[in-house]
Amino acid sequence: MGRDLLREIPGVAIPTDLPRHMYIGGRQVDAISGDRIETVDPATGQVFADVPSATIADVDAAVDNSRSALRGPWRDTLPVERGRILHRTAQLIRRDAERLAIIETLDSGKPLTESRGDVATAAAYFEYYAGIADKLQGDSIPLGTPYMSFTLHEPVGVTAHIIPWNFPLVTTARGVAPALAAGNTAVVKPASQTPLTALALADLLIEAGLPAGVYNALTGRGGVIGDALSGHRGVDHVTFTGSVPTGINVMKVAAERVTSVTLELGGKSPVVVLADADLDAAVEGTLKAIYMNAGQICSAGSRLVIDRKVHASMLDRLVARARQLSIGHGLSDPKLGPLISDTHRRTVASYVDGARARGITVATGGESVDVAGFEGGYFYAPTILDAVHAQDQLVQEEIFGPVLVVQVVESAEEALAVANGTPFGLCAGIYTRDVTRALRFARDVDAGQVFINQYFAGGVPTPFGGTKLSGFGREKGLAALAAYYQVKCITARI
Ligand code: NAP
Repeated sequence: MGRDLLREIPGVAIPTDLPRHMYIGGRQVDAISGDRIETVDPATGQVFADVPSATIADVDAAVDNSRSALRGPWRDTLPVERGRILHRTAQLIRRDAERLAIIETLDSGKPLTESRGDVATAAAYFEYYAGIADKLQGDSIPLGTPYMSFTLHEPVGVTAHIIPWNFPLVTTARGVAPALAAGNTAVVKPASQTPLTALALADLLIEAGLPAGVYNALTGRGGVIGDALSGHRGVDHVTFTGSVPTGINVMKVAAERVTSVTLELGGKSPVVVLADADLDAAVEGTLKAIYMNAGQICSAGSRLVIDRKVHASMLDRLVARARQLSIGHGLSDPKLGPLISDTHRRTVASYVDGARARGITVATGGESVDVAGFEGGYFYAPTILDAVHAQDQLVQEEIFGPVLVVQVVESAEEALAVANGTPFGLCAGIYTRDVTRALRFARDVDAGQVFINQYFAGGVPTPFGGTKLSGFGREKGLAALAAYYQVKCITARI
């Protein structure tokens, strides 16, 4: 039923030429086994595409092609030309922006406005790193006579990129653009639930002039090909974004070959609102922090840590606004789309049902939602759970859905302690007019990035990554490049 309704959404042309093949050595290929996996539109619960289901033999072929390209045409491509290719890729992503955004929404469920934003960000990653390709230069070291010493920045080699389902194209661009800028090759494994845009990107990179084999994209089960990539003898670095348990597994497998890893894992990030805050800004910021992509964001502000003096008024406003948020198929561009799968929706619901059973106040939401015409979709209401204890599992565990957990505090000092009171350390936000308090909080909070008076402030140039269970290594900005080059020091006695 939902598919028929989709045809009637004005201004949305659903592509008929969805990506169907993997890319190895610059060619479209099927899995050697011939097996395929299906991908579901989470707003309808219906299969709308299928892609190859790769196995270890396909991983071997992709890594071998990647290494050949690294030693051959890519090494012989001038750095300035690498930059031009990345720049052309950014232009081609913008040319195909609407097609990519629609595919991303069908695959992930996110509202079209958010997919359009993701596509624009993906283009911006290629543009940003295009400019650095011919500027990664080393140092000279003044040892004095009779020595001459200098460093080279060399590519690490073949890089593997394992991608989650919540930001498929953006996460791919975030890792691949700096990797290619620094002269590496890439083997990308998108999530099985959202494989399409990583495949569509391959077409654009080839059109932009990328030599065959520099970007390879494999679709298939993470437990098979993600695991094989992480421990592959031919892979020199693994950039993994996903859940904590899988990240730990990737690190263990990579350790067997002493392969370096970047781990971008989960979060339970606090949005602190002090009594002197601009509450209008705090309400807007908190809504975006938790309900963007239906809360399925590692950096979501999923805990509101609020001073008791403004708790009641802020909660009233948040509840009123949360109830007004539209929910529907992402292509009709609501404020919230569906969750990624029924399994995931049941996980989210079990957290809320458990909270209700423990006597925690469900201030709003707390239930699945039926959207007319899309009864098979995995929709869940924007939810707020009030006055939750610091040790409660709602505070300690990532729910990864549209569920805001409120923690009430008496002071700025308690707010900091509460903010730091989880095993995660990805992001933290604070709303206050007191700049000293804001900067003290920024200094002392366990987080890779801190937002003051605007949650999610920043962008492509601002470094991003975690502490504690949220992982290590940095992506975005110039900091990302550190994972993608190694320093070779050459010293001569002359
Ligand atoms: P996930 O289950 O860990 O999957 C992530 C990726 O790993 C998928 O491509 C998956 O493939 C693959 N994978 C599965 N098993 C594997 C294995 N044994 N070895 C190697 N790769 C394997 O995580 P998710 O549920 O997709 O994503 C949600 C999590 O990601 C959340 O915890 C969220 O916080 C985190 N996240 C973090 C960031 C960040 O930047 N810090 C960004 C986004 C998401 P299949 O899909 O085929 O299983």
